[in-house]
Amino acid sequence: MVAEPAVSIVNEDWAAEPTPKSEQPAVAETSKPVAEARPESSAKSRAGAYPAMEYYGDSWNTEHVRLNASATPAGTTTLNVDDAKFVMPSCGKVNSEFGMRGRSMHTGIDLKVELNDPVYCAFDGMVRMAKLYGAYGKVVVVRHSNGLETVYSHLNSIAVSVNQQLSAGDLIGGGGRTGNASGVHLHFETRFKGEPFNPRLLIDFENCRVKSPTLVLSEESYKLVGKTLQAPTPQQKTAATTTTDTTTSTHTIQKGDTLYSLARRYGTTVDALRKLNGLTENSIIKPGQKLRLR
Ligand SMILES: [Zn+2]
Repeated sequence: MVAEPAVSIVNEDWAAEPTPKSEQPAVAETSKPVAEARPESSAKSRAGAYPAMEYYGDSWNTEHVRLNASATPAGTTTLNVDDAKFVMPSCGKVNSEFGMRGRSMHTGIDLKVELNDPVYCAFDGMVRMAKLYGAYGKVVVVRHSNGLETVYSHLNSIAVSVNQQLSAGDLIGGGGRTGNASGVHLHFETRFKGEPFNPRLLIDFENCRVKSPTLVLSEESYKLVGKTLQAPTPQQKTAATTTTDTTTSTHTIQKGDTLYSLARRYGTTVDALRKLNGLTENSIIKPGQKLRLR
């Protein structure tokens, strides 16, 4: 396999805005060798403290988004996804897809947010990195127990700190445009072993839910771009039958849904949902019922 040119992974949003803001250190992610020795040695004394050590050993890099030995993970890995506890980081519409953007690689998906809109942690996990970081601006990286990492970038403010344990739905920070961002948005990445893959493999952005309780990552997964991804796995097909709407404007009530959980998932409020749907405080929502979201 040919090693990916280092620069191809770096330029988050640079194509959109090639001139770094003057107050930002224009430090490319791979402009210097990533030294993991220091964090690793300190991690050893606390072996077992970090999530997914079966994939990462006891290395715990709090300095860089990408990991020292990052390369497309070989073979196929099947990961269980905690779909029951998933919370959409932000339910704005997708403004930019994962994939090549001009000559550089866009390593995540851009979601529409307004300045200081809350950004939520997608799954339970531990904060691996939380700081101002070159083109990413204020960025938070969370490692989850299944080995996945989620990345929340261009934040205006960070509400968490390194090594903090988070639950799905905990506040990560406020949306912004720090780093190389052409406007306020959330740049959201999904990574495994340091390598970004198309977040659409994991998340159904139009319905704000996990695509399938099982995620299969092969070497091809890291190259899949745009909306058109591989044929769904049997599990995904099963999941698709429970999917409600192809638009983001309505939600069909599932067992276990509450107005509170829906408001959180879709980035709205219980009051707003009640108003839109003519519900009172005493109204009961039933599975199969359709709710307007906006
Ligand atoms: Zn982006």
